[in-house]
Amino acid sequence: MPTPSTAMLVLGTTNAGKLVELAALLAPLGIDCRSLAGLPAVEVQETGSSFAENAALKASQQACALGQWVLAEDSGLLVDVLDGAPGIYSARFAGVAATDALNNSLLLERLAGRTGVGRAAHYACHAALANPAGEIVATSQGECGGVIASMPHGSGGFGYDSLFIVPEYHRTFGTLSPAVKALISHRARAMRAIIPAIVKHLSAHKKAALRAEC
Ligand code: IMP
Repeated sequence: MPTPSTAMLVLGTTNAGKLVELAALLAPLGIDCRSLAGLPAVEVQETGSSFAENAALKASQQACALGQWVLAEDSGLLVDVLDGAPGIYSARFAGVAATDALNNSLLLERLAGRTGVGRAAHYACHAALANPAGEIVATSQGECGGVIASMPHGSGGFGYDSLFIVPEYHRTFGTLSPAVKALISHRARAMRAIIPAIVKHLSAHKKAALRAEC
C-alpha cells in the first residue's frame, strides 16, 4: 500500500459533529487524519477572548502534548441583536453542562418577539495549524450568514443547525444535506482557506523525514 505523501494530521477537537465535518472536508486531500481519540491529548481551557485565540490555544497545546501536527478550530454562532452572543460561548450558552437542546431553547427565548432582521445571525469559524513544536504556522477563517428560525427544523448537523436558516436555500442546516453544508458553511470556508498551507507544511515535513531516513 502506498504511504501518504504527507505527515499525519491530528484534528484537535472532541466535538463529534465537528469531527465528521472536518474529516469529510479534508478527505479529498488524502492526508492521514486522526482524531484525538486514543491519543494522550490534554484538556485545553478555552481562555481566549476570540475565536482566533481559542483556535490557536487548542492547536498549540495539543501539538505540544502529542508532538504531532494539529489542526484545531474554534467556532460559534453570533446573533446581531444579542451583540454577537453566544459567540465564543456558543457551546456553553445555557451553562457549563449545556446540551444543544438547552442552548437552542435559550436562544429561542432570547429572540422571542423578534422578526425579520431582528433574527439575523452568522456562524464564524477560525482555524489554526500548529507544527509538532506547538508553533502556529497558518490560520484562516470563514463565515456563513443566516437567520434564526422560530422553531427547530430537521435533525441534520449539530449545535444550532436546526434553527439556522440559510437564506439562499430558505431552509435550516438541520434539513439541508451534509453536502450543501460542506459547500457553504463557515467551517468549509475556513478549511478551504487553510488547506494549501496544510498541504505545503505536511508535504515538506514528510520529505524532510524521508531524507533523514536515507
Ligand atoms: P467550540 O467547540 O468551543 O468551538 O464551540 C462550538 C460551538 O459552536 C458548538 O458546540 C455549537 O454550539 C456552535 N457551532 C459551531 N459550529 C457549528 C455548526 O456548524 N453548526 C451548529 N453549531 C455550531
